[in-house]
Amino acid sequence: MSIRLGIFLPVFLLLVQITQAAAPANDKIVVAHRGASGYLPEHTLEAKVLAHAMGADYIESDVLMTSDDALVVLHDLYLDQNTDVAEVYPGRGRDDGRYYVIDFTLNELRQLRVSARSRRQNGSVTPIYPNRFPLGTGGFGIHTIQEEIELIQGLNKTLGREAGIYVEIKRPWFHHQEGKDQSAAILQVLKDYGYTDKDDKVFLQTFDFNELKRVREELMPALGMDIQLAQLIANNEGLETYELVEGQWRPYDYSWMHTETGMEELSQYANGVGPAMGMIVSNESTRDNLLISPLVERAHASGLVVHPYTFRRDSGQVPDYAESFERLLEIFYFEADVDGLKTDFPDVALKVIQERQ
Ligand code: CA
Repeated sequence: MSIRLGIFLPVFLLLVQITQAAAPANDKIVVAHRGASGYLPEHTLEAKVLAHAMGADYIESDVLMTSDDALVVLHDLYLDQNTDVAEVYPGRGRDDGRYYVIDFTLNELRQLRVSARSRRQNGSVTPIYPNRFPLGTGGFGIHTIQEEIELIQGLNKTLGREAGIYVEIKRPWFHHQEGKDQSAAILQVLKDYGYTDKDDKVFLQTFDFNELKRVREELMPALGMDIQLAQLIANNEGLETYELVEGQWRPYDYSWMHTETGMEELSQYANGVGPAMGMIVSNESTRDNLLISPLVERAHASGLVVHPYTFRRDSGQVPDYAESFERLLEIFYFEADVDGLKTDFPDVALKVIQERQ
């Protein structure tokens, strides 16, 4: 054994010992995924208010850039699935038939009405989740990340409880293709609102590892910032991320993150990871036999927290190995030992944690 290992091994063992004991229930966190999006259309200010009122520890925001460089809180690169863009701006779609957020100014986006997610086919519109907020009602709109942070910080003051923010740099590779530095702009906003250090209640996350590295190594040092970063992990089939390799944009291969050393490598840049839930508990699991991957253990051994996505109570969204949505949350919090999770139903997750305290 080398001298280097001889020195570091005791530290490593200590880390393992500390993290192997499951974290107590009161250390587990709930991230309101796109707000309390099970109850109100995702990423509306109304959904964020409800998430705060329910007591979510963190409120999640996906951030995209407009043609005039405003930062808006929306999940998709496109406006088709949850706004009336086709009626308001006919002919403004690209050749692929889609209406891109980045092709509109903030002022133009403010004219749109936001709905729960729907599928449009052959002239008919059907909700993706039939039991959610009625389509086309409520008069919801699009807002900026600055407006959302002001809302959350205002509620932190008036309700006397601090909800954190969990901000996602959404598809930075696409913004680079369009000549925009979305990450630098997002970091500047976080700094403007006082999120600058590791002990500030913020996580900045992205699926794009190359961008995460850039944030860690270039952008944060340039701004004098050192906030908590989280690497999201996608399934390769989803084509979530592309990277520039020898002048060609190619789908990003996430496989290395699941190897024995993947988490250790990630911990050089990130403070947490956000895997899909199937990467932790296999969908091959049964009620009598849960198949739990080594991901959480490896992450904890490397000092990373684990906040998987996305937990939904809607029909068809609870895997067969869990008898109920509540049981699914229990499995993840207390058997797979995740530190937090992202859910559209933050009130249910808070209740599951409270019942263990
Ligand atoms: Ca997100």
